[in-house]
Amino acid sequence: MNTEVVRTTCAICLQDCGMLVHLKDGEIVKIEGDPDAPLNMGALCVKALASLEIRNHPDRVRHPLIRKGKRGEGKWQEVSWDEALGRIADEMNKAKEKYGPESVCWLRGAAKGIQDNVFTRLANVFGSPNITSMASVCYFPHVNAMRFTFGSFLMEDHTNSALVMVWGMDPASTSAPNYEPLKRAVARGAKLMVIDPFETMLAKKADRWIRPRPATDMALALGMAHVIINEGLYDKAFVENWTVGFDELRTHVQDYTPQRVSEICWVPAETIVDAARFYAANRPAAILVGNANENIVLSLQTQRAIYILEGLCGNVGAPGGKVQWTNPPIVSRAAPEFTLQDHVSREARQRRLGAEHVAPFIYYAVPQSIVKALITGKPYMPHVAYIQGGNLLCTWTNSRETLAAFKKLDFIAAADLFLTPTVEMCDVVLPVAHFLEHDALRQSGDLPFLAQIQQKVVDPGDCKSDTQIYIELSRKLGLGDYFWKDEYTFMEEMLRPAGITLDEFRKVHVLECVRQYRHYERGGFATPSGKLELYSNALKEAGSDPLPVYREPPETMYSEPELAGEYPLILTTRKPAVFRHANLRQIKSLRARRPDPILNINPGTAKDLGIDNGDWVYIENKRGRITHKAEYTESLHPRVVVGDHGWWYPEKRVDEELHGFAESCINAITSNSPPYSPEMGGATLRGTFCKVYKVEK
Ligand code: SF4
Repeated sequence: MNTEVVRTTCAICLQDCGMLVHLKDGEIVKIEGDPDAPLNMGALCVKALASLEIRNHPDRVRHPLIRKGKRGEGKWQEVSWDEALGRIADEMNKAKEKYGPESVCWLRGAAKGIQDNVFTRLANVFGSPNITSMASVCYFPHVNAMRFTFGSFLMEDHTNSALVMVWGMDPASTSAPNYEPLKRAVARGAKLMVIDPFETMLAKKADRWIRPRPATDMALALGMAHVIINEGLYDKAFVENWTVGFDELRTHVQDYTPQRVSEICWVPAETIVDAARFYAANRPAAILVGNANENIVLSLQTQRAIYILEGLCGNVGAPGGKVQWTNPPIVSRAAPEFTLQDHVSREARQRRLGAEHVAPFIYYAVPQSIVKALITGKPYMPHVAYIQGGNLLCTWTNSRETLAAFKKLDFIAAADLFLTPTVEMCDVVLPVAHFLEHDALRQSGDLPFLAQIQQKVVDPGDCKSDTQIYIELSRKLGLGDYFWKDEYTFMEEMLRPAGITLDEFRKVHVLECVRQYRHYERGGFATPSGKLELYSNALKEAGSDPLPVYREPPETMYSEPELAGEYPLILTTRKPAVFRHANLRQIKSLRARRPDPILNINPGTAKDLGIDNGDWVYIENKRGRITHKAEYTESLHPRVVVGDHGWWYPEKRVDEELHGFAESCINAITSNSPPYSPEMGGATLRGTFCKVYKVEK
């Protein structure tokens, strides 16, 4: 009997956890966390433990498919790769010739890794500026907030923190690489503060749990800054030597008294004061900032308000704070020379859909603008779309309007693992390889300080990696000169600056970088002033607020008081730990842990509404209603309810409204109309009003 253990990297999400795959006679018999992996240190989440079940699932797309019946009818014919890629290339080139390259939209779902930038490269050499993803509400607000505050991307050094603050994030559910160091820090005696409307498992263990009204976190951060400045609790030496804009900030935060912030956030004033003092007193502190605050209109500026707190307390650059790392010595996948960004001229880029909704430093098209263009034909009509791994009907705002828009496209192709509601609306489907079925380099934007190897452990059959698909599609499009012979040549080229071959990398497995404590002492911050910018002139020049200004979100009892009586509750969402966004609901072991979409509701509120624990309820707002199952949650604010993100029902038939795509999906009731984030163009996904009532049988 031959046994073997392959060291690889999980690629279900972007956290890049190290994994050991045990094989017996070529068959996978066990998957476990790699104790030597620098990020997850041996831990794996439940999704990764279900990797084999995902890979072997009978519903996986295993061959290229071409639609036979009407769109959404579920009738497919298996075809060769040559035919499928040929058809996609023909449709793209036809549209380009007839309507211009911008008529072809390149749409990505959740980030996957380096292949995302290969996708962008292909879109760029094709000449289309209409490239988009979830960037407007995920990762980019946070990266750009850092850019305008610190000048570069910094990471938490929380293994060495005296206090870890977890703000709008649930790392115990979603991020082993953040959770493992956090656990170790807390076991060593570090304090823990959690800011979240929902009492997460970490909140239960925390020294402080602050429960703001969803989407008001910026006000809370500014209220804490008010206390820290007015009580002189900030790091005076750091502020004096390494920041600009302190006087403007001091004046600005005078409006954010604990009393006023208390009214905005529904947090007692004395709790705000205590949280500020606790944060300032326990240094070094690291703040783990989650995606929750990126799903709102004030996305970039809320993140910035939190980073300003870190600057005020001298937690930037210090061991245990937020620090800079060196980059791994591989080709930078985000560099314009890699993505070949200049193949789309400035004028052509300005024609991208939604350009008017984003700041001048943002280059993507805006998803809502693509939908509106398809519905109205203005400013012009897209005709073709290629979708990489995205169940966009469930993850873009206003699902039903997104479906109506996609119906207007002449041709849609997608590469995915499963026939999701979105893939069911396509004309050609490409079977993408599972992460255990192909080699790849992993270098995540979330964790940019290392590169790892992902190894092919089992045969892909007729499936291909996204990168290999782009290489082959580029040839069909007549753009092969911009690509590599195959994905292996590509990987060798990416590794060249590191001076090792792919085979050598398989043995080394990780290229880890080093922390650069107090990097600014060797050349300053990479901002225009060379200092940490509490006040940002660069943002002002880009037409944004130089200091974060709290504005009431759309669709709340304060911004639309005339509807407060009809919609008395505030709705926010969580991502269930067992799924990734709108995926994996067909995986039995995962679904058993979360069989239904759950609405957490305070029992007092529920009883007033005649709702018992476990009742199916409607969540309704201006756009319609969806169903969830009520779960009593004593610790929730009585006026806040928390639903699940990304539901659809793979067990329902395709003719049951595309597997029930809009029945329980929160995005069936989110708005795709302005206001959008003025910098990022993101729509509002959290913190809006609703009503909840029982589904009568
Ligand atoms: S958090 Fe889970 S799904 Fe994501 S990489 Fe780590 S083990 Fe895989």
